[in-house]
Amino acid sequence: MAKIISGKEISAQIREEVKDEVARITEVTGYTPGLAVIQVGENPASTVYVNSKKRACEQVGIKSFGYHLPEEASQEELLDLVDQLNNDINVHGILCQLPLPDHMDESKVLNAILPEKDVDGFHPYNVGLLSQGKKSLVPCTPAGVLEMLTRTGIDISGKECVIVGRSNIVGKPVAQLMLSKNATVTIAHSRTVDLPAVCRRADILIAAVGRPKLITSDYIKTGATVIDVGINRTEEGKLVGDVDFESVSEVAGHITPVPGGVGPMTIAMLLSNTLEAFKKINGISS
Ligand code: NDP
Repeated sequence: MAKIISGKEISAQIREEVKDEVARITEVTGYTPGLAVIQVGENPASTVYVNSKKRACEQVGIKSFGYHLPEEASQEELLDLVDQLNNDINVHGILCQLPLPDHMDESKVLNAILPEKDVDGFHPYNVGLLSQGKKSLVPCTPAGVLEMLTRTGIDISGKECVIVGRSNIVGKPVAQLMLSKNATVTIAHSRTVDLPAVCRRADILIAAVGRPKLITSDYIKTGATVIDVGINRTEEGKLVGDVDFESVSEVAGHITPVPGGVGPMTIAMLLSNTLEAFKKINGISS
């Protein structure tokens, strides 16, 4: 039976570390890290995410500044707000909750955020640094996956890592991170031929697909580590991952659950990125 990697426990540990460091740094510098969270429109899921991000900031002593624009706000208004926050010395991280309304160009807005305040790690400058293996602000979910592996003591160097999914938000950046830790990386996607056989090569399998329970036990090499990034809601309203937890946990060595796995790591890494941005902007070494 696989050992469970608890994102709930690891994220709580990271939040405590961030909280201690925020307190220390605030005392030393007299300044407090600040995160600006922008929401446009009334998407209910966005409201839930934005509120939990703001709450998480308060719990660790990071100042949060909420900005809520109406659905019909123009792109110019949003870009003006981003510009104002880029120039605000109390703001060290800027997060624009996605998706944006259809009349806005997401990449134009994300590219307007100063790379040093880009705590989501989506700006092409940060994407470029990551792909060059240089220090950068790393997208939160991929950063969370790496923390889960390293804090569990999973060996990455020289291991076969298969990632299912090639999105810019999860699949590609997680692949870059695993490569930077010397894994041999394969990225699979919807056109991959014989996905089960490709997945069975993996010592570390990372699923970021968005297909409930796609990965079953016949995709798994005995003893492999399985990280399930997927968050899917069934018709009954239950949250399930991309991995069939019941069957896969019989074969895998380690596995993350859904919920309570990668999900809680994402917000913890947002806090950690905000602290990192604050230090970089203020010339404090990590
Ligand atoms: P995207 O829809 O952007 O990407 C999905 C990827 O999966 C694509 O590359 C697609 O291939 C591939 N894919 C789709 N179907 C198959 C299939 N049958 N076989 C193999 N590959 C397939 O999703 P995201 O990366 O944004 O998110 C993935 C999952 O992770 C979702 O469930 C999402 O909710 C969850 N998520 C969780 C987060 C967390 O905090 N835990 C944060 C972000 C996302 P192709 O490119 O060929 O279309």
